[in-house]
Amino acid sequence: MIYKRSSALFKEAQKVIPGGVNSPVRAFKAVGGDPIFVKEAKGAYLYDEDGNRLIDYINSWGPMILGHAHPPVVDAVVEKAKKGTSFGMPTEIETKIAELAVSMVPNIDKIRFVNSGTEACMSAVRLARGFTKKDKIIKFAGCYHGHSDSFLIQAGSGAVTFGSPNSPGVTEGTAKDTLLARYNDLKNVESIIKSNKGEIACIIIEPVAGNMGCIPPVKGFLEGLRSLCDAHNILLVFDEVMTGFRLAKGGVQELLGVDADIVTFGKVIGGGLPVGAFAAREEIMNHLAPLGPVYQAGTLSGNPLAMAAGLAMLTELNDNVNIFDSIAKKTKYLHEGISKVLTEKNVVHTINRIGSMISVHFSENPVVDFESAAEGNNETFKKFFHGLLDQGIYIAPSAFESWFITEALTYKDLDETIKAVSVTAESL
Ligand code: PMP
Repeated sequence: MIYKRSSALFKEAQKVIPGGVNSPVRAFKAVGGDPIFVKEAKGAYLYDEDGNRLIDYINSWGPMILGHAHPPVVDAVVEKAKKGTSFGMPTEIETKIAELAVSMVPNIDKIRFVNSGTEACMSAVRLARGFTKKDKIIKFAGCYHGHSDSFLIQAGSGAVTFGSPNSPGVTEGTAKDTLLARYNDLKNVESIIKSNKGEIACIIIEPVAGNMGCIPPVKGFLEGLRSLCDAHNILLVFDEVMTGFRLAKGGVQELLGVDADIVTFGKVIGGGLPVGAFAAREEIMNHLAPLGPVYQAGTLSGNPLAMAAGLAMLTELNDNVNIFDSIAKKTKYLHEGISKVLTEKNVVHTINRIGSMISVHFSENPVVDFESAAEGNNETFKKFFHGLLDQGIYIAPSAFESWFITEALTYKDLDETIKAVSVTAESL
């Protein structure tokens, strides 16, 4: 495929935007080459500036669960835009989407909308600290909760892709309040709690990790965290920015039957517009301003266009719960197809999958935490990425990312993808 115009646009962009992109993972730095500039997208496909059609397995890093430019979402946004794009005053639609979200997700009475997953997680931790009157938090190596200071300690996603899991600019004072644990290792968490007795406000976790590839929790891990939190007066924060409204209507809490105290959302909840949210039971949420002392605010929070897109998206997911099964089946089909052709071509690999999240690791060991994810062969991944891209298949340009399956993908698209993997495998 030819990417001449994308490369020219990238050159121009680099003159005025750091690295030519507004979010680092877009830059292809980990895989080499120039990023693709997208012109438009529809359903399962991206159409780039050179006129190529790509089957999209990133889907805006998760939000496009029903495909790009999904008509009900687009119509809702267009209709709203005609009536004004921001007021900084309450609107009825905010209550409507809040009511719907609260009815879909277990254990939440109230929800507050923000503009990104970063904001949602940052605010959730502030709320947890304000509620428990404790300062420290536990996070897991390889989990990503946005780019707020206290999370950039052994963070996953772009932070690890670019070798800056501990970013300069985060003060020692902030870093010392973030305690780092190993994913899927309950004993490790227990010992951290023991040595910081009475000081930990919350444990924040991606209950299914998606930022070191896809890593599901091992049996008993989330349940164990729940018990530890109960025993030590610690709040359990599920970062469901990726998994919320994707793995099930009620997210991982519903899928795996473990209760969280605070839940954060992003991606699907905004239907592709900039939306995040955090939610909890009433007792916790009432600590927020204007009811309580924990301050949190936003000029564009609850923006009418964003709320219209989110409401259209959640309404469809609520009305047609078969979607979750359907995308999980497609993901399983893809998993089996890819695994078969890679095995036939003797390519060492491990595939992790849960629901509509999947990742291919070029490693023979089980991938259960950040260390095992980092063992994957990055040179093989680079070849894999470019081999697929040459055949019109667009996966995340980093081995530390999950693929997101959309309902818009047909089985024909999946077969085309498996065939492209088979061709690529020849040169791995
Ligand atoms: N939490 C998780 C689990 C995420 O995957 C991300 C983004 N990929 C974030 C938080 C941050 O969200 P945003 O990029 O919208 O700030």
